[in-house]
Amino acid sequence: MISVEQAKKKLFKSIKQLEPAEVKVIDSLGCVLAEDIYSPIDLPPFDNSAMDGYAVKVESSKGQKVERFRVIGEMSAGIANGMRVRKGEAVKINTGAMIPMGANAVLINEDVMERNGIVYFRGSIEKGSNIRRKASEISKGKLVFKRGTAITPSVIGSLSAMGFLKVRVYRKPKVSLIVTGKELQKPGARIKPGKIYDSNLPALSVLIKAAGGDLKIAKRINDNFQATKGAFLTAVVGSDIVIFCGGISRGDRDYVIKVFRDLKVEKIFYRIKQKPGKPLFAGSFCPFPRPDGKRTVIFGLPGNPAAAIICFYEYIYPVLRRMQGFEGMQFQLPTANLPVANSVKLSKGRASFLKGKLYNGGVKILDGQESSNLTSLAEADCIVYIPETVRRITKAYKAEVHLLTE
Ligand code: AMP
Ligand code: MG
Repeated sequence: MISVEQAKKKLFKSIKQLEPAEVKVIDSLGCVLAEDIYSPIDLPPFDNSAMDGYAVKVESSKGQKVERFRVIGEMSAGIANGMRVRKGEAVKINTGAMIPMGANAVLINEDVMERNGIVYFRGSIEKGSNIRRKASEISKGKLVFKRGTAITPSVIGSLSAMGFLKVRVYRKPKVSLIVTGKELQKPGARIKPGKIYDSNLPALSVLIKAAGGDLKIAKRINDNFQATKGAFLTAVVGSDIVIFCGGISRGDRDYVIKVFRDLKVEKIFYRIKQKPGKPLFAGSFCPFPRPDGKRTVIFGLPGNPAAAIICFYEYIYPVLRRMQGFEGMQFQLPTANLPVANSVKLSKGRASFLKGKLYNGGVKILDGQESSNLTSLAEADCIVYIPETVRRITKAYKAEVHLLTE
């Protein structure tokens, strides 16, 4: 059996980001830029008014005396009419409108009075007041976003402001999910004797999608060798990741590992010194020889629902994120070091992933740590990681806590 640290290291080392693809900016939320973005234009593209008011030509003044300007016209946002302002003249203007030629300041509506085509102003004004200068935010040719930037709503706004309709990002991984078990019944109909409702297919499907995966296949199969092998071979073509769930232990009816062996799936690890999720499998497979040497990543998750979800967060979520180009601290769950409010019995020689809840600047370990217990996991907002070397949690113990964001 391998340790958690070694298993993660081996797995994550073997994962590279997928090829770049061009997508519409509006569809790129949550993707990672595969190119540096240089602005093709100045922003703002022209001098424009920051306020509603009057564009005028002034000498900077702190004067007490009233200044008068004759209104010669109007400029509104979106209009370019070549108007020119001379000394003593004003052009009515609104926010975002081009500054007329000759003007060097905007008097704001709140500070002036207009009567019979004359604007009266008393106070201080400086050249450049209330004008947003051309290129003051971004000048043409500037590096605005680096490759590797995660695209947020504001990045989408910024790319659009620079005029981009499409952008190159790392492709999303195609994922297939197959849950196994003769006892599984689709939710909806009345439960039959000996059956349980399948909770892993819905839970893992949404986890895959929320992590940016493109879910191609999500199906339930019976416990038998041919069905398992057939599902594997169908799924592996065209998938970057294939996830089996259930049937990975060494029981007579556990066919997933038997099929992996039969098809010579290359093992990254099988069985980890951890609780829950000891039998977790990771490997890789290539359905046909490929010039780029790219292989499909294969996972075998335990069927116990809480174990399946915790193993997803700890091992599969990072793989999905890494394939999408997230790097460094960004590809795993966000982590914090927090004091633990209560103690629990730990299993000897195995690391623990415990269902926890953030509480008063620390973390509380919840009741119901069994790997079958989903209700307690639904209550949890974090996973508390206790390495295998820790025997007992004392009052002062600060644990590595993995925050569940979705
Ligand atoms: P297995 O890993 O196939 O031995 O399953 C371990 C336990 O998890 C058994 O009690 C199964 O009934 C249960 N289980 C397996 N798959 C699912 C599933 N998709 N939904 C709910 N429970 C499951
Ligand atoms: Mg089973």
